[in-house]
Amino acid sequence: MKIRVVARNSRLSLAQAQEVMAKIKGVEWKLIPMASYGDKHLEIPLTENIMPDFFTKELDEALLNDEADIAIHSAKDVPYPLPQGLEVIALTECLANADVLVSRRKEKLSQLKSGAKIACSSPSRQQQILKLRPDLEIVDIRGNIDQRLAKVFNGEIDALVVAECALKRLELEEFIAETLPIKTHPLQGHLAVVAKAGNAQLKSLFYPLDIRKNYGKVSLVGFGPGNPDLLTVRALHAIDEADIIFYDDLLDASVLVNVNADLVYVGKRRDKHAYEQDEINEMMYKAATAGKQVVRLKGGDPMIFGRGGEEYDFLASKFIHVEIIPGITSALAAAATQAIPLTRREQARSVSLCTAHDIENLPIPNTDTIVYYMGAHHAVAIAQKLIESGKKSTTPVVIVESAGNVNERSIHTNLQELASGKLVVNSPALIIVGEHITHTSSTGQGKQNKILVTGSSAKPYEHLGKVIHTPLIQIKDVEPSEQLHQIIQKAHQYHWLIFTSRWGVVHFLSLLNKVKKDIRIFTNAQIIAIGKYTASILSKYHLHADWIASDESSSGIIDLFMTHSLVGKNILIPCSNLSPATMPNLLRKMGYHVDSLIVYENHVPDNIQPVDLSEIDIITFGSPSGVKNFKRIYKSIPDHIQVIAKGEVTKNALYAQGLLPFEDWVI
Ligand code: SAH
Repeated sequence: MKIRVVARNSRLSLAQAQEVMAKIKGVEWKLIPMASYGDKHLEIPLTENIMPDFFTKELDEALLNDEADIAIHSAKDVPYPLPQGLEVIALTECLANADVLVSRRKEKLSQLKSGAKIACSSPSRQQQILKLRPDLEIVDIRGNIDQRLAKVFNGEIDALVVAECALKRLELEEFIAETLPIKTHPLQGHLAVVAKAGNAQLKSLFYPLDIRKNYGKVSLVGFGPGNPDLLTVRALHAIDEADIIFYDDLLDASVLVNVNADLVYVGKRRDKHAYEQDEINEMMYKAATAGKQVVRLKGGDPMIFGRGGEEYDFLASKFIHVEIIPGITSALAAAATQAIPLTRREQARSVSLCTAHDIENLPIPNTDTIVYYMGAHHAVAIAQKLIESGKKSTTPVVIVESAGNVNERSIHTNLQELASGKLVVNSPALIIVGEHITHTSSTGQGKQNKILVTGSSAKPYEHLGKVIHTPLIQIKDVEPSEQLHQIIQKAHQYHWLIFTSRWGVVHFLSLLNKVKKDIRIFTNAQIIAIGKYTASILSKYHLHADWIASDESSSGIIDLFMTHSLVGKNILIPCSNLSPATMPNLLRKMGYHVDSLIVYENHVPDNIQPVDLSEIDIITFGSPSGVKNFKRIYKSIPDHIQVIAKGEVTKNALYAQGLLPFEDWVI
């Protein structure tokens, strides 16, 4: 096979082609030099808005017309997107990325005389040089490297800024006066091999040169409206596999607590350092080129008002593989929680998602439903503009703040009321406008109580209304201890295993499993569960509780031992680091021998997002540690709130913490 290689007709391009082909052993090749539009039009300065394919068009056409097999370009000249039918089959390693200074007497930038003429070909170079030396005269330059250098030495200009890689490739490094501290194009110094798409033979031939195999992937991941339970499975996988995660505001960072990746906050909250979009792009690029799996977490969906398109283009144009994982955009979450169909047969046949960021140019599309993002601060003006545009002042409006999150709040109103300025709208909010909304009012279900569940399971409370679940305890594994080994040694001596919670069951069995043992070592023990729920967890492991204390508290266990004459004195209680000693002590007083074994630890979760209690009707507590942690976070319980506590111990903890004055406040 003889490979036809097309390159621009300059000494530098020839050197580039040779550099690439020298690495492809055992194939014959022939160079086809070709002038590009840019080469033919030296009168056009590069500071002008040149066409993206200024230096590549003719060469790429030669590929498409089968006049050549591959084209070798400076990677930064490759247009994005590439013409249909072509692909980059290899991106070579960077030879040198810097810009350097060439001057007649090798003066450094700082040594050039004021007013000296310095030539730079690109706007970015010109701006950066001017910042360093505002007193120099900047001039445009075109032509090949030899021609440019000649201008320095014949006195037409005093100095020249040029890519280091170009001088290296032409073995002209001796002319370098200084490496400049300026930012260059990330692809400067790389070469790109372009071929007709789908040519597997050529692709595998050039594969060894392709540095993209060492790159990581960037996933632009939609996080949904904020609550992690609205994440997609795919998003969770990406988060799990990430080496580094760049995350925004508007998302509950608690999901990131246990991930192994490096976390970089790039949101724009006022109290924290905000990165500019360019910086974020570059950080992602750098991480990906260093081989990292990068996740960019964005609120809602990355492609809806999320700058996902810009980030995609930035990375893809630099040959980074970018994957987009959609998320539930906040409009969909708001529509769901408020039970507002965004479309409805015969009543709402179209919907538009709009930004109200630029209120002067507010889009007012002619759709049956309009959802405005970024409109909280302009809510009044939006309503006024919609009325001015001819919408009825009675048109229903639903505003949803923090949709899908613990602090969700909704306002059902109409354009007139909203325009009057009486309502307060807090960010983030969506404003949903549509005639049909009344027909489907979410108030159809009546006002629902909002229940803040602080324990680990929300299921038992779902029938009471709208559950907001923020567990105030976090369960963590413990490592096998010396005590565990001692207990295993004398396992056959225990007569009773008492499980006081589901965590006791789960973690005891997993701890045994960790040391390659199982429940069979307790040959003489009967099992007691503190209530039906704990018994049901046991049965998931095909273990049957011999006894179930009907009262789900330690007194239930004491009753059991008092009322039945249970034979056998040795008791083992798998428990947590915070389990109270009350029950074991009572049992000891009754003459039993009790060992408590810590099988899990109970912690305050990191990153708790406090809930606005003024919106809450009921709070439930599942354990004394939950109560304690509540006190630490919220200090007190507002008067309007009803309290539900699970079991006597939890109730007592509420009085002990001073959270409630009277016993009968608790259900
Ligand atoms: N990509 C995001 C939108 C980002 S623009 C998405 O798909 O949802 C930011 C705007 O989104 C906010 O001003 C607000 O209007 C809206 N927004 C984001 N999260 C929200 C939430 N949980 N509740 C209500 N509005 C939200």
